[in-house]
Amino acid sequence: FEIRSKADAEDLAYKIKLQVVHSRFVNTIANCQTLDEGLRQNPDDLMNLVGAAGVVFCENHKLTCFGKTPPAEMIPDLLEWVEQQIGKNAVYSTNTLVTNYPKLATYQDIASGLLALQISRSQQTYLLWFRTEVIQTVSWGGNPQKQIVVDADNNSRLVPRKSFEIWKETVRLKSLPWKTSEIEAALELRSRIVVILLQKADELALLNTELERSNMELDSFAYVASHDLREPLRGIHNYATFLIEDYGDKLGEDGAHKLTTLMRLTQRMEDLINSLLHYSRFGRSELILQPVDLGNVVEDVLTVIKISQPALTEFRISRPLPTVQCDQTQITELFTNLINNAIQYNDRKQKWVEIGYILPEETHQSLPKSLDFLQTIFFVRDNGIGIRSKHLEAIFKIFKRLHPASKYIGGTGAGLTISKKIVERHGGNIDVESVFGEGSTFYFTLRQPI
Ligand code: ADP
Repeated sequence: FEIRSKADAEDLAYKIKLQVVHSRFVNTIANCQTLDEGLRQNPDDLMNLVGAAGVVFCENHKLTCFGKTPPAEMIPDLLEWVEQQIGKNAVYSTNTLVTNYPKLATYQDIASGLLALQISRSQQTYLLWFRTEVIQTVSWGGNPQKQIVVDADNNSRLVPRKSFEIWKETVRLKSLPWKTSEIEAALELRSRIVVILLQKADELALLNTELERSNMELDSFAYVASHDLREPLRGIHNYATFLIEDYGDKLGEDGAHKLTTLMRLTQRMEDLINSLLHYSRFGRSELILQPVDLGNVVEDVLTVIKISQPALTEFRISRPLPTVQCDQTQITELFTNLINNAIQYNDRKQKWVEIGYILPEETHQSLPKSLDFLQTIFFVRDNGIGIRSKHLEAIFKIFKRLHPASKYIGGTGAGLTISKKIVERHGGNIDVESVFGEGSTFYFTLRQPI
């Protein structure tokens, strides 16, 4: 009875210690941006929480190891096995890991015990705690005749030398068993982490809504400002025209030249304002999603383009484009921008523009990483002048042009900004690959239900 109460007292003290570690640890995670960062801050607490000698944190196939753990390259296989053991539960524990999972046999000293906690199956988020073999764990007493051993409840006892040998055999390849309080501590940690993650997701959602709202406000601002600026600008332009017409001969050459410059500048300003107006319209107008045959869209776009650029460019479409869920007007604008650029920024005698797509099963390593490889990736490729890699990011910014208007026909530098907006409103991504002097490929995705 006395021993029982001593064990109870020890157990209680241990539980209290776990509580302290737990709250300190949860505090740390709550104050960090990501779970990974939080766990890194205090790996000792993470191990003490369940009395482990090592821990591995896995998130989306990314591993972070602390303390005594098997090498990282052994973990993915182990995780697959753990997933089967866990089944529908959140936790799996064993103190005979190497017997159950012989692949780790060579690591029996550090991985005899495993406590695995599943935080999220879909995100592949796990914590794996490891315990060393009991023989490594126990600190030997000084008395050669008596040795300390640990019983199934983790309580230490002194035993005579002979029975120590027998004991050693019985605990071979085993770690100390995981106590109920330790498994509970792991489960408690899991529910706290889930709450914290949900809070963070909520904060993010709120931030996104705010961002969306301020984007909308910016669009309305751009719309109103550009709309209202057009009228006085027209006025300036008209008055300059009247001046030239009515007083041109009195102004002299210098005066006439200045007025012509004034008119050219107002014209340029009007072009910019019109682009801004056009751009802000794309942010404000509602998306009308319906099945659209992209083959027809491209055919229409090419028909219009060929009217102004007869027969100078070869258009290559190697297989019929699919039908996708999108806003027809906006996608027509997107293809118009990309194909027009492909023709305009091209000095060759034999220009060609290829329009095609890559299915998820056909994706390859060399494609830009920003694209979602689970979606169909559309592309417009040309053999034009190409873009230097230092400019690749800038071209999507509004009014950014790489050449003076006199060199290539081009526009105001809003085309790609609008294209990016269209793609993003469709839940997709746009990116470019280019070799200066050889040609460019613009890739984009439009998110479709998988
Ligand atoms: P613009 O209206 O001037 O064509 P864009 O936003 O469409 O503006 O493009 C921005 C700049 O990116 C262009 O001025 C041009 O320098 C460069 N660019 C766009 N497409 C291509 C292309 N296919 N090949 C080479 N350069 C390109």
